[in-house]
Amino acid sequence: MAADNPLLAAVDLPDYAAIEAAHVEPAIRTTLAQNRARLAALLAAPEPNFATLVEPFEAMQQHLGRVFAPVAHLNAVRNSDRLRAAYNACLPLLAEYQTEVGQNRPLCEAYERISAREGPTLSPPARRVLDYALREFRLAGVRLPPEDQARFKALMQQIASLQSQFEEHVLDATQAFSCHLTDEQELAGLPEHVTARAREAAGERGLAGYLLRLDQPTYMTVMSQAQSRALREQFYAAWTTRASDQGPSAGRYDNSAVLAEILKLRHEAARLLGFASYAELSLATKMAPDVASVLAFLSRLAGHYLPAARRELAELSERAQHPLAAWDLAYYAERLREERFAVSEEALRPYFPLPRVLAGLMSVAARLYGLKFQERTQLSVWHEDVRYFDVLAEDGELKGGFYADLYARENKRGGAWMGELASRMRVAGITARPIAHLVCNFAPPARGRPALLTHGDVVTLFHEFGHTLHHLLTRVDYPSLAGVNGVPWDAVELPSQLMEQWAWHPDVLPLVSGHVDTGAPLPEADLARLVASRSFHAGLAAVRQLEFALFDFRIHAEYRAERGPDLERILAEVREQVAVLKPPPYNRFAHSFQHVFAGGYAAGYYSYKWAEVLAADAFAAFQESGVFDAATARRFLDEILSRGGSCDQMQAFVAFRGRGPQVDALLARDGLAA
Ligand code: ZN
Repeated sequence: MAADNPLLAAVDLPDYAAIEAAHVEPAIRTTLAQNRARLAALLAAPEPNFATLVEPFEAMQQHLGRVFAPVAHLNAVRNSDRLRAAYNACLPLLAEYQTEVGQNRPLCEAYERISAREGPTLSPPARRVLDYALREFRLAGVRLPPEDQARFKALMQQIASLQSQFEEHVLDATQAFSCHLTDEQELAGLPEHVTARAREAAGERGLAGYLLRLDQPTYMTVMSQAQSRALREQFYAAWTTRASDQGPSAGRYDNSAVLAEILKLRHEAARLLGFASYAELSLATKMAPDVASVLAFLSRLAGHYLPAARRELAELSERAQHPLAAWDLAYYAERLREERFAVSEEALRPYFPLPRVLAGLMSVAARLYGLKFQERTQLSVWHEDVRYFDVLAEDGELKGGFYADLYARENKRGGAWMGELASRMRVAGITARPIAHLVCNFAPPARGRPALLTHGDVVTLFHEFGHTLHHLLTRVDYPSLAGVNGVPWDAVELPSQLMEQWAWHPDVLPLVSGHVDTGAPLPEADLARLVASRSFHAGLAAVRQLEFALFDFRIHAEYRAERGPDLERILAEVREQVAVLKPPPYNRFAHSFQHVFAGGYAAGYYSYKWAEVLAADAFAAFQESGVFDAATARRFLDEILSRGGSCDQMQAFVAFRGRGPQVDALLARDGLAA
């Protein structure tokens, strides 16, 4: 059986096309059983040491991750009822195993003895592996009395399935909505590629006219381009009530109880470990020192950005000549942006054909880090649009590779992300190269042309590429700390947000653009206006992020068992503090806030802003010496990019920058310099 299971094949790249739902549970059960037996044997040996216990244990954990990664990936990009059921069946098995390992007292005590005995003689990354593991043991409840341990284990399992349920509800609610229009007038303002797709979609269902779906690119296009206020309101209402008690599918995929339960169980788990709140637990693994520092950091930024946001909103209302509703903001902002900068996201699409953008992006990485990219074809993939690239160092050494799955389609989770398939590993005589999945949701190619990106899409691609480089260029040999592993959440966005900076630079834009039909360069004037438009509405954008960040952080920091989640009060106070436009009462953004309720950003959404400060400040170092300066790039690679979780992030930043991070560069970028 195992021999026929593609998930268990000992290969670098899985046979994606061959993976079926029926393979999932047997592969996971087999691997878990092997790992359990192996661990018992390792612990039975007399006097285990770093080489005989820690290294093989690293390899085992990596192996499990490598078996499950394709499953989690397919569940996100090629979802089906059967795969979803198989994936869900594995979650409790995995959670149980991880808790069992984390609460394995003999294993923890062996690590402690190894740390005491060998610590002083080990390399700094190896010592860090021990420290990191010992912290994980503590956070898994290794020291709890047995009844609390059992409870903690149950909590972890319940939280994992609730988070999965939360995500399913959002996907189902998103797919349940479609908007059928027969009068072309109602689509006025929408770009041709959207109306063309809407016509095709209607045709597929045997309908006349147009069918608009609620995928993210369509939603964003409707909000910024549709002239019909009614259409915008309809989409706004559908989007912001997904998976809630409100809106077009009210109550059908309702996450109200799910998110309340998630908060309750997270709080209970944090208390069991001796933390006052889940926010404190979250910070135990982050770069930010404590709850008060995070709140102060966010409030301080709010103080800088609020006056600008108020000014920007007042200007928009004046222009619209009526009080603005939430569904007017993006539309009028886009009109003002077009007028002021004579540049529209949509009009520039023909200058950003995907092949050109990708080639340009790779040339930037080549200039900075001396990388080469070689596409491999004839690979077994999960969809015909997927591509694979080997990444090579200047001297030809193969560093790793990544899959690129870039277009939106049905049964694919929205958004953009980098996920790991495998981490770099050189332990216990086994070596593995890092492999990543780079996933986006760009509007697919239409009418025989390549996909045309907005500049916002280009920035997204650079961002995810930054994560990909972080994962692939690592020099850490231990998978638990290689690439993005073991990097605190509030530092992990530094490489990605730093990479975004190049997508805005006047010397880089010509490398990533060229008219799809003629190859003509992006006209100088457009380029200059695009760059100038960057700080446009920086205030409004920042206060929105700060609202999410404060809401996320406070619901976890202020949770009290006796009063429950108290979301309304906290949301009202947060909005009082940072929102400049009051959303309608039916808005239920929390119900589809997947970063926080289904992703890793719980009590950590502030990380985006935290890392933005780091990234802007790091890019300032490049600006000071030239954006392609090899010495600066080398320093960034040596001190931060290649080191993953193997060092203290603040020390790494100081080693790169020569001092601690400062907010000035971010404020200057956003046009708020004093
Ligand atoms: Zn990111």
